[in-house]
Amino acid sequence: MMSYTCPVCDYVYDERIGAPREGFAPGTAWASIPGDWCCPDCGVREKLDFEPSGEVRR
Ligand SMILES: [Zn+2]
Repeated sequence: MMSYTCPVCDYVYDERIGAPREGFAPGTAWASIPGDWCCPDCGVREKLDFEPSGEVRR
């Protein structure tokens, strides 16, 4: 599972967590997110602008 970070507001999309308020269930792969999806926090950046944060290690 990977996570992806918005370069503007540091919102993190974690594939393990998904984005339930956006309609993406936990475990939704980044590849399954629509290309025109925007950051839910700032609404400025689109999926393409997100930066892979790599494996989430806890
Ligand atoms: Zn953002």
